[in-house]
Amino acid sequence: MSYEPEFQQALDEVTKALEQSTLYEKHPKYKKVLPVLSIPQKVNQFRVTWENDKGEQEVTVGYRVQYNNCIGPFKGGLRFHPTVNLSILKFLGFEQIFKNALTGTPIGGAKGGLCVNTKGRSENEIRRICNAFMRELYKVIGTEKESPAGDIGVSGVEVGYMHGEYRRLTDRYDSGLTGKGLDFGGSLIRPEATGYGVVYVTDAMIKHATNGRESFKGKRVAISGSGNVAQYAALKAIELGATVVSLSDSKGCVISEKGFSEEQIKNVIAGKAARKTLEFITSDFGFKYISGARPWTHCGPVDIVLPCATQNEVSGEEAEHLIKAGAKYVAEGSNMGSTPEAIAAFEKTRASSESPVWFCPPKLANMGGVMVSQFELAQNAQRISWTAEEVDSKLKSHMIAGLELSMKTAREYSKEGDKVKLPSLVVGANIAGFLKVANA
Ligand code: GLU
Repeated sequence: MSYEPEFQQALDEVTKALEQSTLYEKHPKYKKVLPVLSIPQKVNQFRVTWENDKGEQEVTVGYRVQYNNCIGPFKGGLRFHPTVNLSILKFLGFEQIFKNALTGTPIGGAKGGLCVNTKGRSENEIRRICNAFMRELYKVIGTEKESPAGDIGVSGVEVGYMHGEYRRLTDRYDSGLTGKGLDFGGSLIRPEATGYGVVYVTDAMIKHATNGRESFKGKRVAISGSGNVAQYAALKAIELGATVVSLSDSKGCVISEKGFSEEQIKNVIAGKAARKTLEFITSDFGFKYISGARPWTHCGPVDIVLPCATQNEVSGEEAEHLIKAGAKYVAEGSNMGSTPEAIAAFEKTRASSESPVWFCPPKLANMGGVMVSQFELAQNAQRISWTAEEVDSKLKSHMIAGLELSMKTAREYSKEGDKVKLPSLVVGANIAGFLKVANA
């Protein structure tokens, strides 16, 4: 097997979390499970060709990695990005197994996507790309077996095109796609779900840490990214009384010491919908854009850190910097946002510091997205729509339940005992997700 660095990193994290607990002492037979889970049940790889706006033919490779369906139908997003390759999709699909199990609902893990740069392409060309991708993907998906959704580069627009092409190709309405438009089976709060979920779980951590005395109110929050997850995390944090001091994209970051207003974040949403870059959007309302930089060493004093851009976006040094800047709560909206060195830096504060950093791994922190996807499928099955309040309150209670379960599991399986003030959520979330799959 060729070396797959991103996948290896994700596998190493789970391996380490399980090994540093009492799991294998308590259940020796589970030693055999991870080697099985680490190999996808099936990898679909196919050629995708379309005509660009200049009338030229373009070609790239598309994938759907069906990782594990022993607790329920395969489920996970589609990523359209020039970095997409099998290593990245295997890391994301593998993560998805445990994240989906942690939601407390029966869904298996999968991920797919296309190696393509969609930036700067016209709406028409994006439609042709989505349709071309679906002409292969439709052969492996469907509500009862495999249910894709969005991820980086795939928003409601792309999901809509793909769902329409599935319907045309099959004459059926069971693509299983989630993140659909509201008029054809989408769920209220699905676009907001991942970002809101990150904030809900962080709020629950703050309440645990302070015996309910504190919340988001008055806290300074550094956020990276400016896509779906970052935008709605920012809006919810502001709604709860926090000051959001940063955003970013792949080219640089923008800092506002006084904090962004709700309206400014909404302008970012509108700008992104019009496919503008963050640099262009923020110069529209006079913010300084720091080219080539991530927010972590520019954001000043912070209480809460929410990486919401992409994998490996917080280095060990940046984590140390954030700890010195006052960070007490870190929750990852992005999958594998922190490097192993960054996780180690946050985690070591649990033993040494009077006020340790609460580090919430992405399996738990960003599971709100796939959770509300699951709610979308439940509504579709009944052909009804829940109200925004219903979806939001179910989302919140599942995020809190995920945190409680991870904390309880961490305490139950920890070898650290009283040596630490705070159990490891990395250990707790990984084991809680693992146990459901291993039991199945
Ligand atoms: N791409 C999202 C994730 O990383 C959502 C997946 C889904 O809704 O199926 O979890």
